[in-house]
Amino acid sequence: MDIVSHALWTNILYLKARRHALWGVACGILPDIVSFGPLYLQLIFFPEDAPSIEWARRDAGQIPAYVFTLYDWSHSLVIFSGVLLAARVAARRIWWPMFGWGFHVLIDMFTHTSAFFPTPFLWPIADAHDTSIDAVSWSHPIFIAANVSALVVAYIALFVLHRRSTMGGPSASRTYDKTH
Ligand SMILES: [Zn+2]
Repeated sequence: MDIVSHALWTNILYLKARRHALWGVACGILPDIVSFGPLYLQLIFFPEDAPSIEWARRDAGQIPAYVFTLYDWSHSLVIFSGVLLAARVAARRIWWPMFGWGFHVLIDMFTHTSAFFPTPFLWPIADAHDTSIDAVSWSHPIFIAANVSALVVAYIALFVLHRRSTMGGPSASRTYDKTH
């Protein structure tokens, strides 16, 4: 899925845990920054050595091998679970924003085709091409329309609910304060 949608859906995931939301969203977009950030830096600073984005979109063979390596490490539920466990043991507590990372992998599993960047969620146990779910690509126009519509509906609903709760809450307690 695109990085903005990842951020917006992850923000909703932390709806009931707002103090973790900022870092949760950061963890939610990190897998794509880790995978594709270096390629974009290469395009900016060493464009002569990098494939154009247009070429890369048409032919994954044009994309440097290191991008796939980074993609394997950052888009695996096996690696995510290992790091989560290691952090739990080292810090003796769970750092809840890390679940943004796992949520990113789950979303990608169902929004990528097996032809272009299938999600290697079981790597290094199994290869992405053997395990990927051949889902509708997030870049398909119908999927984009459905995703944007769902986000708009979700954020309008959240806005309305938030307004209702803030309008009911503080004014009621203020009345209570004046009379007591
Ligand atoms: Zn991703």
